[in-house]
Amino acid sequence: MAERVAVVGAGIAGLGAAMALAGREREITVIDRDPPAPANLETAFDTWERKGVTQLRHSHVFLGCLVTLIRDKHPRLHDKLRQAGAREFDFEAALPHQLRDQYVPTAEDRDLAFLFSRRTTLEHVMRAYVETLPGVRFLTETAVRGLMVDKSGNVPKATGVLTGNDGAKTIAADVVIDASGRNTILIDALRDNGVTIDEEKSPAGILYFTRHYRLREGQDEPPRDGQPGAGDLGYIKYGVFAADNRHFSITLAVPEIEMSLRTATLDPRTFDAICMRIPGAARWMNPERAEPVTKVFGMGNLHNVWRHFVHAGEPRVLNFFAVGDAALRTNPLYGRGCSSSMMHAHILADVMNETADPKARAIAFDARTRKALRPFWDVIVKQDLGAIRRAKQEQNPAHKPRLKARLIKSFADDAVGPATRGNLSVYRAIMKGFHMIDTPTAWLRRPLIVARVLAMWVTPKPWKRALYQPKLGPERQEMLTQLGLAST
Ligand SMILES: Cc1cc2nc3c(=O)[nH]c(=O)nc-3n(C[C@H](O)[C@H](O)[C@H](O)COP(=O)(O)OP(=O)(O)OC[C@H]3O[C@@H](n4cnc5c(N)ncnc54)[C@H](O)[C@@H]3O)c2cc1C
Repeated sequence: MAERVAVVGAGIAGLGAAMALAGREREITVIDRDPPAPANLETAFDTWERKGVTQLRHSHVFLGCLVTLIRDKHPRLHDKLRQAGAREFDFEAALPHQLRDQYVPTAEDRDLAFLFSRRTTLEHVMRAYVETLPGVRFLTETAVRGLMVDKSGNVPKATGVLTGNDGAKTIAADVVIDASGRNTILIDALRDNGVTIDEEKSPAGILYFTRHYRLREGQDEPPRDGQPGAGDLGYIKYGVFAADNRHFSITLAVPEIEMSLRTATLDPRTFDAICMRIPGAARWMNPERAEPVTKVFGMGNLHNVWRHFVHAGEPRVLNFFAVGDAALRTNPLYGRGCSSSMMHAHILADVMNETADPKARAIAFDARTRKALRPFWDVIVKQDLGAIRRAKQEQNPAHKPRLKARLIKSFADDAVGPATRGNLSVYRAIMKGFHMIDTPTAWLRRPLIVARVLAMWVTPKPWKRALYQPKLGPERQEMLTQLGLAST
């Protein structure tokens, strides 16, 4: 008999799970609270109401890991994305300008391409693709309100979901996949059924502000010739996100403790004024080159979250699998959530294809999730705590960093940064971690790469001057004064 799978949520993880699981003997029902996709991409961007995905209209970049999965496992979707205007920005195109002359391609560079696309475009095309897959049906405008749980055995078992206004309708399933994102209600539903789900949570420490722009007629994207499209000024971080069909967006990430700046950034005039003072952003959004096409979207309450579904080798629940943000989340600044969700969905499908035993599935899924994704989570949590400390220090001009902090900063600024811009092997090794093709610290276990970074550290500054980043923008005090904001 066909295995009945209820996938709650048609975001990246839900669509990823459906596409990874389809094609076997399965009846897959993808259930989403939001309306179906509008007819075309521009309507999707302008008006697709997605209350279930609050981050839909924030900047998104898609990493090599996601592109590679789509290219290798779903080639028809890969073609459709290109036809829709999503673009791959390959390894060579992304090289720092200092490395362009020494570039020698290798086979692995293929996996290190970004996908430039608005989030709405990616999701629109993915949804249309999944709708064509055998055994998959969609129920839209259908909110899941609860979980059906069989508590008769030693370990509770999910047996379906509850929908309808009062949760009175049932959808029975052999497997329930929670892909309902950061605001999942199913974890609480499990807890209400007596299932303990432990959770680790750590702050991202920032608020996100995004505005979208479109290149004007006859204008092109600025050349990638040295002014970085992303950077950290200490009191603010910025990123330019190229997208499809002449669209791009800019995100400003403001530390939570920057009270006056965070309030002001939501105003489009202030947002643009900040961008105009950051050369790497200004060259994109200046009014001669581009026009804004949206308001400024703001988002807070950003955390790194990891939920545990297995404890001491024993599953807490059977036939229930959380994928994507419902299971784990990271600070959006690192651009890893969709890649991680897609990878997670494919890990689950591999496990489900390998065994039908509920306990073996739960244990294998947990172990493989940890192996593939936990290294990224751990590094991000550490980096965020460091960034929160630095943001506090920015507010105190008299602060004198300790020796350890000075060494860490020097290692980043005088060793890793210049080595990445000056040596192709170092750049490639670090980008493999960045694109989630390798773990983020794998390069630290490669003696030759570490030797090159250390050699760069001891190289006198004047010899490596061309390998430093240009100044990213004004100091904090100067920016606040220019914006007319009182310093706090
Ligand atoms: C500000 C911001 C910027 C980000 N930028 C990036 C980036 O640049 N690159 C990147 O890779 N990731 C980024 N991310 C992370 C990325 O958006 C998420 O990791 C990704 O969307 C997770 O996918 P998901 O399918 O798990 O959840 P979602 O995409 O949130 O999808 C959840 C789905 O479940 C549905 N749903 C919710 N509740 C119910 C319910 N009760 N019943 C039925 N349906 C329900 C929703 O309608 C939605 O369709 C960003 C996140 C944020 C917050």
